[in-house]
Amino acid sequence: MTVSHIDIKSVNKIFNPGENAVVALKDINLHIPDGQFVCLLGPSGCGKSTLLNAIAGFALPSSGTITAAGNLVTGPGPERGMVFQEYALFPWMTVEKNIAFGLEIKGTPAAQIASRVDELLAMLSLTDFRQRFPKDLSGGMRQRVAIARVLALDSPIMLMDEPFGALDALTRRNLQDELLRIWAELKKTIIFVTHSIEEAIYLADRIVVMTYRPGTVKRDILVDLPRLRDPAAPEFNALKRELGALVMEEQQRHHTDELRIAAVD
Ligand code: ADP
Repeated sequence: MTVSHIDIKSVNKIFNPGENAVVALKDINLHIPDGQFVCLLGPSGCGKSTLLNAIAGFALPSSGTITAAGNLVTGPGPERGMVFQEYALFPWMTVEKNIAFGLEIKGTPAAQIASRVDELLAMLSLTDFRQRFPKDLSGGMRQRVAIARVLALDSPIMLMDEPFGALDALTRRNLQDELLRIWAELKKTIIFVTHSIEEAIYLADRIVVMTYRPGTVKRDILVDLPRLRDPAAPEFNALKRELGALVMEEQQRHHTDELRIAAVD
């Protein structure tokens, strides 16, 4: 298996240090082994994106260290690919050009790019859409292209920030299944941010539940259910209830905090 583990040690992130400081992450410690599928779960405002961006190297921690595939994270790097919620495609490029772009930048020989693009188009059921532009695709199709783009660069680690959050339920389930298939085939480490409890249980080997401000690890749970998982199964529902209670506690804290801020204003 490729080296793709991640070590997060004593990570803190403070926005606007000083009077209006926001402690977004506090003392996060996680070891994520090679090939694990991890979901970061919690209501909005608990630091999921901040942690993902720190791992991606877009916004470094205020203190603590992150290593990814053995390298200290000091900025974005080729061992980490990121898929965003809002597709992030180039609107003026066709599907195949969007997928090829990163390889072209890297100076990959044209013949190699062509065969890799063909492979990815097939893997994500996009072959018939290769000449289309993003505006002529559905949301689900656009997100397939975004995933193909990241896969093209063959990063051992894939970071995903609510990638299916804007999709309807059926498209979302299809893409979840495709992602699980690709993950089983390519054995990448995936860190996937979601606020959907069901999505986390459906996908992850491990669910890290975060607390609302400061963002800490509230619970770290291994999900030991065979895939493909059945959301109607009693074990699935038992876990859903357990996680629901944990997330609800944090949502309450968020709500109380908002009321407090409103009272001060
Ligand atoms: P989540 O992804 O779980 O919704 P975020 O990581 O976006 O949470 O945010 C965590 C906390 O940090 C929130 O309270 C948010 O308001 C705050 N925050 C995020 N980014 C910034 C920023 N650039 N400046 C100030 N506060 C921020």
